Amino acid sequence: MEQSLHKNLLESDKAVIAPLYGKPDVDFVEGRGCYLFDAAGKAYLDFCAGIAVNALGHQNEGIVNAIAEQSRKFMHLSNLYPNYPQIALGKKLLEVTKFDKVFFCNSGTEANEGCIKFARKYFDRKGEKNRQKIVTFVNSFHGRTFAALSATGQPSIREGFGDMPGDFVHVPWNDTAALCKEVDENTCAIMLESLAAEGGVMTLSKEMVDTVNRLKEKFGCLVIVDEVQAGMGRLGTFLGAEKYGLHADLVSLAKALGGGLPLGAVLLRQFIADELKPGDHGTTFGGNPVACAAGLSVVNQITAPGFLEKVNERSVQLKTGLQKMANKFSFLGEVRGDGLILGLSILAEKSVGDLIVAARDAGLLVLSAKGNVMRLLPPLNVSREECDEALKKLEKAFEEIG
Ligand SMILES: *Cc1c(COP(=O)(O)O)cnc(C)c1O
Repeated sequence: MEQSLHKNLLESDKAVIAPLYGKPDVDFVEGRGCYLFDAAGKAYLDFCAGIAVNALGHQNEGIVNAIAEQSRKFMHLSNLYPNYPQIALGKKLLEVTKFDKVFFCNSGTEANEGCIKFARKYFDRKGEKNRQKIVTFVNSFHGRTFAALSATGQPSIREGFGDMPGDFVHVPWNDTAALCKEVDENTCAIMLESLAAEGGVMTLSKEMVDTVNRLKEKFGCLVIVDEVQAGMGRLGTFLGAEKYGLHADLVSLAKALGGGLPLGAVLLRQFIADELKPGDHGTTFGGNPVACAAGLSVVNQITAPGFLEKVNERSVQLKTGLQKMANKFSFLGEVRGDGLILGLSILAEKSVGDLIVAARDAGLLVLSAKGNVMRLLPPLNVSREECDEALKKLEKAFEEIG
């Protein structure tokens, strides 16, 4: 059975899986560290990392052992009972981030739903029922469930799904004047990514950070920071909010958190947690003990001494290499991003789709972001040699499409 499905994996996929992705004809059979291997034995340097999920690469020993160990005890209890793996991971997350409480869920979109619900419930309990408006950004990405989709500033992915949850408005990224116009005493929250990854690898301006903090101070609204992609050490600090000085009240995490298993989290300040009661929100699978055990290994490794310094070193190395390439090839635009979310804009005459194919042929997996931008999301423990290799392969891919 498996043999016959492998013969033409892509055709089998098309026959069985709902057609929501355009997938290439590749057949990965194993991952090791920063590499994936296909059925023919070809190695691919994985600078996609499962969309920033495999932050410690494939077959990470600590994660594999944590999963094996916890799965032999119990796989699932539900949130009807306290369980040690959740508490251990929660405690570690709170120590590292200086937040006060955590709520576990299964994914990024759920973490953002949690943030939105907690923010609205907070003001409801405080008797400020008119505080519902949430201000987010054009080209943001917060997930695919209804409220997170309503928060997402990309009309094209909302189209055809009927009415969206109301009271979400979108202002252009880094447009402080537009932001000031939308925020007042009826604003529930300003919601933003610490780095807009899918939306085009766009960093926050200092002025934006200052404006968000000032508006929060002035009007008493909450600040929700979506760190689903940019958090967990990817920007060289554990949270992006910490790096840029954003005064976050609620933070969403997911992607890298579960070490490859589905896990999301909301970090809360105590004053918000104080307004929540049993029954306000919930989840059957959220904070699954096996996923939390994996997560504890992830957070321990990312916060180990010296780890994040390496992330910053690799960031400088890759940025420098990308800039050289941008200078060499006329169809390349600006180098963007921070930490290990890096982007390179590709000018109109070439398409990022063609580049992705050429890079894959050269043995390097990369992805795109909005606006014809190539995006790199290598594992955080990528080595200097692997980054050099990736840059060589990229150069080959640029020559191929150029
Ligand atoms: C991926 C992503 C999400 C959605 O996460 P899912 O796990 O796919 O639901 C939300 N916000 C950001 C910034 C993301 O990158």
